[in-house]
Amino acid sequence: MWRIIIVLVLLIILFLMIRKSIRDFRNKNAAPPLPSKDMMVQDPVCKLYIAAGSAVVEKIGGQHYHFCSHECALKFKSYMSD
Ligand SMILES: [Zn+2]
Repeated sequence: MWRIIIVLVLLIILFLMIRKSIRDFRNKNAAPPLPSKDMMVQDPVCKLYIAAGSAVVEKIGGQHYHFCSHECALKFKSYMSD
């Protein structure tokens, strides 16, 4: 009898661990990391390519955008608010 209870408890622990790891995996996919410094990113305003390390990064609507300059970032924000 005790053996069944121990097995059940172990199964529940295992199930909770699997569920947690699936949730962590999903969270990782939902929020992709910022590109590395050397990666080339495109400015959505002037279509210029800049290295992510020297770009102006703005978080707009939960997403990160890279700009060549603050002027482009401001322009983009004004487009978004229209
Ligand atoms: Zn630009």
